Amino acid sequence: MTWRATVLTLFPEMFPGPLGVSLAGKALASGLWELEARDIRASATDKHRSVDDTPAGGGPGMVLRADVLAAAIDAAEISPDRPRLLMSPRGRPLTQSMVAEFAAGSGPLIVCGRFEGVDQRVIEARNLEEVSVGDYVLSGGEIAAMALIDACVRLLPGVMGKQTSGVDESFSEGLLEYPQFTRPQEFEGRGIPEILISGDHAKVAAWRRAEAEALTRTRRPDLWAARGGQKGTKSTTDG
Ligand code: SAH
Repeated sequence: MTWRATVLTLFPEMFPGPLGVSLAGKALASGLWELEARDIRASATDKHRSVDDTPAGGGPGMVLRADVLAAAIDAAEISPDRPRLLMSPRGRPLTQSMVAEFAAGSGPLIVCGRFEGVDQRVIEARNLEEVSVGDYVLSGGEIAAMALIDACVRLLPGVMGKQTSGVDESFSEGLLEYPQFTRPQEFEGRGIPEILISGDHAKVAAWRRAEAEALTRTRRPDLWAARGGQKGTKSTTDG
C-alpha cells in the first residue's frame, strides 16, 4: 500500500506547495507517496459555513469547533492503523525517530489548527496525538505538517537517490552530521581537510565520526547526554 498523508486544513490550496517540488515532488508525481488535503470547512453545517467560535471563558481570538473538526475527521475515513496527529505547539517535539516511525507506517492523518487552536474535546474524542515542530508559535499547522511530511517522505523507499544517504546524516545515531566539502579544492584561501582527499576510507570515516561527536558535544549537549556520551567507536579528538 502506498504511503499517504491526509491533511485536514482550512487552506487546502496551500498543498502540495513546497511538497510538490524537488525530491518530494518528483516522488509524489511518480506515485511513491500520496497526499490528500481535505477542507475542514466542507464539514461546516450552518449557513455561514462557520468553523470557529469565541473561546469559552473569554479571551482573544477564535477556536476551531469540536463538532466541525470531528465531522471532518470522520469524513476522512482513516483506517485505525494510521496515526492521527494534531500539529500543536503543546505537542510532543518532533524528532527523527518519530519521523522514522511515521514513515514506516501507512501514513498519518494530520489536523492543522488555526486561530487560537482547537476545542480540547475533539482532541480527546478523536484521540489526536499532539505533535510540535518546535518551541515557537506558527499561525497555523500547515507549515508544521509540511515539515513533518517532508521529513517522512525522504525516508520512503525509492525517494532518495542513493539508498544510503539517510544513514549517515544528522540525528541518525543521535549525532549531528560532520561538515561536508566539495569542489573547488580551494575557496577564498580555505582548503579541504587533507584526510578527505587522502582516499583512505577508514581514516575518512574516523575523521567524520570524531567531527560529528565533537559537534554534538558542543552544540547539543542534550543530544550528547541522551546517547550516554561516546559509544565504542574510536575518535581522533577524544584522546
Ligand atoms: N494559542 C495556541 C497557538 C495557536 S497557533 C497556543 O498558545 O498554544 C495556531 C495553530 O498553529 C495551532 O493550532 C497549531 O495547529 C499550529 N502551530 C503553531 N505552532 C506550532 C508548532 N510549534 N508546532 C506545530 N503546530 C503549530
